[in-house]
Amino acid sequence: MMAQYFALKAQAEDCLLFYRMGDFFELFFDDAKAAAATLDIALTSRGDHGGAPIPMCGVPVHSAEAYLARLIRAGHRVAIAEQTETPAEAKARGGSKALVARGIVRYVTPGTLTEDTLLDARADNMLVAVGEAGGEIALAAADISTGRFEAMSVDGTALGAELARLGASEIVVAEGCALDVPGAHVFDKSAFSSARAETRLKSLFGVATLDGFGSFCRAELAAIGGLLSYLDHAGQGRLPHLAPPVHIAPGSHMAIDAATRESLEIVCTMSGSRAGSLLHSIDRTVTGAGARLLAADLAAPLLDEGEIGARLDLVQWLHDDSGRREALRAALRALPDIGRALGRVAVGRGSPRDLGQLRDGLSGARTLRERLGRTEAQPSLLNSLLPALDGHGALVDELTCALVPTPPTEASSGGYIAEGFDAALDELRRLASDGRRAIAQLEARYRDETGISALKIRHNAVLGYHVEVPGKHGDALMREGSGFTHRQTLAGVVRFNSVDLHEEATRVSQAGAHALAAEAAHLESLIEMVLTRKEAITRAAQALARLDVAGALAERAAEGGWARPAFVAEQRLDIVGGRHPVVEEALRREGQAFVANDCALKPTDRLWLVTGPNMGGKSTFLRQNALIVLMAQAGSYVPAQSATLSLVDRLFSRVGASDNLARGRSTFMVEMVETAAILSQATERSFVILDEVGRGTSTYDGLALAWAVVEAVHEANRCRCLFATHYHELTRLAETLPALSLHNVRAREWKGDLVLLHEVADGPADRSYGIAVARLAGLPPAVLARAKAVLAKLEAGRAKTGGIAAGLDDLPLFAATMPDKEDLNPDPLQELINATDADALTPREALELIYKLKAVA
Ligand code: ADP
Repeated sequence: MMAQYFALKAQAEDCLLFYRMGDFFELFFDDAKAAAATLDIALTSRGDHGGAPIPMCGVPVHSAEAYLARLIRAGHRVAIAEQTETPAEAKARGGSKALVARGIVRYVTPGTLTEDTLLDARADNMLVAVGEAGGEIALAAADISTGRFEAMSVDGTALGAELARLGASEIVVAEGCALDVPGAHVFDKSAFSSARAETRLKSLFGVATLDGFGSFCRAELAAIGGLLSYLDHAGQGRLPHLAPPVHIAPGSHMAIDAATRESLEIVCTMSGSRAGSLLHSIDRTVTGAGARLLAADLAAPLLDEGEIGARLDLVQWLHDDSGRREALRAALRALPDIGRALGRVAVGRGSPRDLGQLRDGLSGARTLRERLGRTEAQPSLLNSLLPALDGHGALVDELTCALVPTPPTEASSGGYIAEGFDAALDELRRLASDGRRAIAQLEARYRDETGISALKIRHNAVLGYHVEVPGKHGDALMREGSGFTHRQTLAGVVRFNSVDLHEEATRVSQAGAHALAAEAAHLESLIEMVLTRKEAITRAAQALARLDVAGALAERAAEGGWARPAFVAEQRLDIVGGRHPVVEEALRREGQAFVANDCALKPTDRLWLVTGPNMGGKSTFLRQNALIVLMAQAGSYVPAQSATLSLVDRLFSRVGASDNLARGRSTFMVEMVETAAILSQATERSFVILDEVGRGTSTYDGLALAWAVVEAVHEANRCRCLFATHYHELTRLAETLPALSLHNVRAREWKGDLVLLHEVADGPADRSYGIAVARLAGLPPAVLARAKAVLAKLEAGRAKTGGIAAGLDDLPLFAATMPDKEDLNPDPLQELINATDADALTPREALELIYKLKAVA
């Protein structure tokens, strides 16, 4: 057994090996230690190996899913080794001592789950493979629980952003891949062959050419190849259902890098929770599929005005008619998740209940189509969705006839095929029930004949049907000629068989077994029928999800009094009465009102410098505008009275380092790395919010950096930008930068107390309110008094010397000193070499230089 175990373990590599032994999955050695610690179950030992006891733990097969879920969540991967023959077969093959053959039937990893219990119903579960070919990089991504499947090329700098958009549960890269993909799983290099992938795709979808899916480049095919091979490996040859791959063209959605996603808290907050995120606060979807699509939409706002408009038209159609909206949402709410049901059926884990869900979901879709199709003047997106909802009539009819109303999740005990579907099955069931009735009659007859009123006919797994009498009556039935054969004597009872009973019992069990087999055969052919329509079912599921998202956005818009955004060509961001959906909601819970604010960026005034006291509402203002842009391009109404903007190609959000302290990174470094990315990537069509950038270092450094960054954004990137700062000195930039204007969040001191108005007004903040904010925060009076005294000294000193920004007046304009855009990201190697005077180096210094060069490279 150990030899078999070690062979399987070698095959399982870094996965924990679940080794099937009877009703348990057992784990040994280090696997056992790791699993026991994660699952908090007993670690025992068994036998010995090399003189030491073998650590072991186990989980029951029937509850293995729950344990698997915890192991996967804790970051483990699991290989499942099942018995591939019965003990009887093993005996027949190799004698009484033969070991039952086992093989790995499946690898369970974060990206290859299909079990309902292991998945979040409202989140996609993406597996992503990274491919490289001909100097290009591409991603292939799939959610095998629903069949979502897509591929796209990315340029090196956007790799992190795309991975963040997909929210990958698991990433696979080829062995030897030089890209920096944290947490990626390394997989066989030969799997990432573009040529093989092309052949594979064609045969998978039964097409002669891939043109119908879009044109895939070699890197994309390599990624697809890696993904498919990894799935083959995980399912040990059983490939899950995948829809035809969707080719995502470069530039088809807004580029949002990982840092921006994190800082805007789009689908989860910085601390990782869903509550408090944008998604959570706007999600009114009523189905799991709708929730998954909404998350995907927010992660990938569109860049095509036509597509955005089509989504908005559908939202408006539902927004403007609350009756229509409520009817749609009520209908959708009742529908099961057919996408995931299909996913389970396709991997061979479909249960009768899944078929029941497909029946109910598809028939609900048909009803919905009839209802929605009745109105005239329909939005174009609706017209393109409706056909997908129908056309499943034959399948629905078949499932309706075949299945009982609520089929069980377990097929093994039958009872899911409806009466009247199959006459032969009905006959078998009648025989079985006749037999059971006959057995009941037999029991009555035996009581009469023997005069033992306590005589019973019972059934158990070992003896099958048998006659049971209390111990004291045992002898009466033992007698020769009684017609009963003794089977078993227990403490209080004696058990017998009889010829009549045996006959009836055989009839019952045969009919029962045949009935089960007949049901299983029907299940198989129903599954077959479902699978021949899997593409169409996937389309129906997607259409339902799209309707749910539109209904949910319409609902949320109506709830919050939101507006439909309008798009214009001119570089503008014109928000009237904008609000932050998450902050507004939080304030409402505390009975407070949110102060709406306007934002009006245009080509001649595209950079707003926002100053004002801490806690004044600067961050909130910045973020609400970024969120409004994001929502608008995702096809949603926005929390504002009105919103007019031109399409944003890239969205950036950066928060100064000290706000990030909680995340415990080398914060100033991170801040600068992230800022560098903006300066090199933002275009005239981008929108950037910078919140207290420069704060992570000393005052002078910070001010100087913030100053230079604002100038660069203004002069080089020329994008729309909101920049919040507490460096009052920066307001001087308004004198030299024509498209920059000053704004402040208003505050007032009233009877010695600071009142934060949260109102964005024109002009610079009139003063700094640091000490007043500190009082608000409850700093002791003695400390406040001392601070005031120190401030007075400092201010007096500043007046004398001209202040921290003294001497800035004769600074040459940024434009005059501005290097080419590439030079904003100088090559550190080049810099070191430039700074080296070769003739002046001692041998020792030369050696040190080589070390330095190596370190930088
Ligand atoms: P700052 O960035 O200026 O330090 P924040 O934007 O973090 O300030 O806002 C601090 C707090 O003020 C928020 O948590 C919120 O409670 C409140 N606040 C911000 N903006 C508004 C607003 N427009 N209306 C009402 N309250 C607001």
